[in-house]
Amino acid sequence: MSASTEEAQPAGGLATLGFIGLGIMGRPMAHNLLRAGYPLVVHDRVPEPIQELVAAGAREAESPGACARAADVVITMLPDTPDVEAVLFGPRGAASSLRANALVIDMSTIDPLSTRRFAEALASRGATLVDAPVSGGQKGAIEATLSIMVGGPREGFERARPILETLGRTVVHVGESGAGQVTKACNQLVVASTIEAVAEALVLATKAGVDAARVREALLGGFAGSRILELHGQRMLDRTFQPGFRIRLHWKDARIIVSTASQLGVPIPGFEAVARALQEMADGDGGELDHSALVIPLEEAAGVRVGGVPR
Ligand code: NAD
Repeated sequence: MSASTEEAQPAGGLATLGFIGLGIMGRPMAHNLLRAGYPLVVHDRVPEPIQELVAAGAREAESPGACARAADVVITMLPDTPDVEAVLFGPRGAASSLRANALVIDMSTIDPLSTRRFAEALASRGATLVDAPVSGGQKGAIEATLSIMVGGPREGFERARPILETLGRTVVHVGESGAGQVTKACNQLVVASTIEAVAEALVLATKAGVDAARVREALLGGFAGSRILELHGQRMLDRTFQPGFRIRLHWKDARIIVSTASQLGVPIPGFEAVARALQEMADGDGGELDHSALVIPLEEAAGVRVGGVPR
């Protein structure tokens, strides 16, 4: 059924939700909202995930604007900052069709400073934007165990909270608009830098003739231990580079981190080197590999392979 010409009626006291962006993350999140009983109106630029959600009980909206007209709360789960800007403010965008006192929850990972600009533009139209990027990957989206970092006014957070608690296990209100995106940027800075450090350590060990698997095991018990050494270190040893989290998306996050730091005048020399490594992989043929594949160029430069398999 199309929601383009009719208004959705809240059922069972639950707000009608609009969901825009039904990709790797958005599709299972939308299913979880349907299962929780929310009336759901969905939109994407490709038809296939829409058909799947409609078969599960959602209604289709033919544009972001139609989605906004039909919903009390609009959720976006889109790749990057320009995508969110286009969906909100572009032709047939959501912003000009939002209901009175509407809430927009942007769960994409985008630039924090643009988020603040979007929040101000929506506030001038009487709507509230909360930024609610997530960590936990596709598995967390499917299992509704995401960690969700929320920025925006407390009133918006309280309205968003029950919806977000349907999608994740940890929901933290970090601060005002953009604070969720800043938190996510910090998360991605630490994750990529740690993957790079683990990769460098395992390549160094291998080149020195020491078994990288044993090194990983020994390090896990000490101060260098981390979930990334555990999981991504094992991926490097096993050569399981299918994503996971794609280098292409981490490079997008790196651009957000570098541009935010630059606009704020904050030096991030360590991360800049990691960002260059992500860019070289993304510009080459590594963009679709898991981010643990950051080990590959280091191995090539050193002429070794950490899993012990001959090159
Ligand atoms: P994806 O590329 O799989 O999905 C994005 C969806 O948005 C696609 O279905 C696409 O068709 C749709 N879309 C893009 N532009 C559109 C437009 N203008 N109008 C309508 N639909 C549009 O991406 P994803 O992996 O689901 O990631 C979404 C966001 O979540 C990204 O910001 C990403 O960084 C973040 N994230 C991803 C993961 C992960 O593991 N994949 C984990 C945490 C956070």
